[in-house]
Amino acid sequence: MAVSNPVSAKPEAEASAFDSRTSRNTIQRALVLEAVRSLRNHPTSADVYEAVRQRHPRISRATVYRNLALLAERGEVLRVELPNGADRYDFFSQPHYHAKCRSCGRVFDVDMPYHADIANEVADAHGFAIEGHQITFTGLCPDCQSAQA
Ligand SMILES: [Zn+2]
Ligand SMILES: [Zn+2]
Repeated sequence: MAVSNPVSAKPEAEASAFDSRTSRNTIQRALVLEAVRSLRNHPTSADVYEAVRQRHPRISRATVYRNLALLAERGEVLRVELPNGADRYDFFSQPHYHAKCRSCGRVFDVDMPYHADIANEVADAHGFAIEGHQITFTGLCPDCQSAQA
């Protein structure tokens, strides 16, 4: 794009302002990523915010949420969308499947191969362009099973 601004009065000041903004964003993103990696239980965005805030009380909820969205977009964390529940975030960013406990709401990984080609089995998507899929099993976790026994 054409820049019609001739010689800036303070090119160095502008450059350093840009650098500090860039590095602050990078630091904030790293803090959020670190928090997701420290939480191994498929945290919600609110959980991630609480974890970041414990160590960095001045960070805003909006900043944490924005960086979570960015990390998910970049594939550095996995966003797990659940029916009837808040999205969860996963440090394990490869596609995989989950089970959600209907009693306590906790989310677990299930050990099964990821079927990247499952869309091939769709006979008629009614014009929908399929881009991916998630599977969430529902049931009772071991703790809730023994609580009921
Ligand atoms: Zn449970
Ligand atoms: Zn997971």
